[in-house]
Amino acid sequence: MFFEITASTPVYLLPFSPLLISVFSIIEEVRIVQECGRENSLDWMNSSRGWYTYEVSPVFLLVEEAVIKKMIEFIGWEEGDGIFNPGGSVSNMYAMNLARYKFCPEIKEKGLSGLPRLVLFTSEECHYSMKKAASFLGIGTKNVYFIKTDERGKMIPEELEKQGSAPFLVCATAGTTVLGAFDPLDKIADICEKHGLWLHVDASWGGSALISRKHCRLLHGIHRADSVAWNPHKMLLAGIQCCALLVKDNSGLLKKCYSAEAAYLFQQDKFYDVSYDTGDKSIQCSRRPDAFKFWLMWKALGTTGLEERVNRALALARYHHVNENGIELLEYANVCFWYIPPSLRKMEDGPEFWQKLHQVAPIIKERMMKKGSMMLGYQPHQGKVNFFRQVVISPQVSREDMDFLLDEIELLAKDL
Ligand SMILES: *Cc1c(COP(=O)(O)O)cnc(C)c1O
Repeated sequence: MFFEITASTPVYLLPFSPLLISVFSIIEEVRIVQECGRENSLDWMNSSRGWYTYEVSPVFLLVEEAVIKKMIEFIGWEEGDGIFNPGGSVSNMYAMNLARYKFCPEIKEKGLSGLPRLVLFTSEECHYSMKKAASFLGIGTKNVYFIKTDERGKMIPEELEKQGSAPFLVCATAGTTVLGAFDPLDKIADICEKHGLWLHVDASWGGSALISRKHCRLLHGIHRADSVAWNPHKMLLAGIQCCALLVKDNSGLLKKCYSAEAAYLFQQDKFYDVSYDTGDKSIQCSRRPDAFKFWLMWKALGTTGLEERVNRALALARYHHVNENGIELLEYANVCFWYIPPSLRKMEDGPEFWQKLHQVAPIIKERMMKKGSMMLGYQPHQGKVNFFRQVVISPQVSREDMDFLLDEIELLAKDL
């Protein structure tokens, strides 16, 4: 050994040996634990070095591999691939491009010229990143076909089946952003299988339910997807950003689609197994070690701890949402509601009522923000006038807080 290894020795100074990997891990872990106890731990995590190759960042690359493997297990695939990205929107974009590459591999070199018009199907409740991805990738927002949803916000499989022009991709949503709806994945997978279509599931929001034995049935059929976007930074509360795109293909499709084989980083004649140089699967060069945040959290809380986090959030969301027969009205953590103020309670249902109700949420929101008592989102949505949307995920929220929320709205709106 030529170097004295201390927690502050830069990793690039250490001589490489497979044996040392475990030493690296220990040093890293010691350092990480030390750093995490300090105020600037998040800054530290966010500013630590890039990790395109194994030699630059052996520990973080192995951590990413381990976390992806675990996430794939929860999806129910026997094998697969994946990459952490800066956001679910970017994961969706990756998936769209990957599906298109599978559909016509020559696009990587020849570009869009000479290609027929390509269309994709998603639901009208999908995340807006679908449109952004379509415009960014040169597919065009007009080539995104929005399939009708039912009254709960779920894609109607019969409407999907009815569509004429053949798409290269169907994107289902598991946990829609506004209503928290889960598309019927099994039925959608049947249709995709029949027509040989790539199925992407945007589980950015709902994916974390996979960790809960009680709620994972919401995503029944997800193992039949070709790709899945899952954000541990949402329901599981990993530090932003922490988002993975997971791909069922394990034959190197992700790498073939994205690699540029820069000779100064990804030399093929290195003395170690270069399949660990996973950075060429990304559209980025340097990346932040986002997988590490999830890994650390998973280690600290265990699968049971994460499961409890999901169960607790969903139980709290249901606190206000059980009808008089004790039946749960809610699927996920999106509690959407109108507050009807005193002056509207005796009014007849009609356009005037809805027009007045539309103005209520913005006024209450303004009042709560100026008073500084709460923050609660509202929006109009698919023909519905402004309603509040409360999403409970923090383990620090209590039932008293849930009661406070409604009491406070009542107080703020008593003269309306
Ligand atoms: C939040 C969300 C996204 C976007 O995730 P970002 O990490 O904010 O880019 C995508 N899809 C769904 C369904 C979401 O709820």
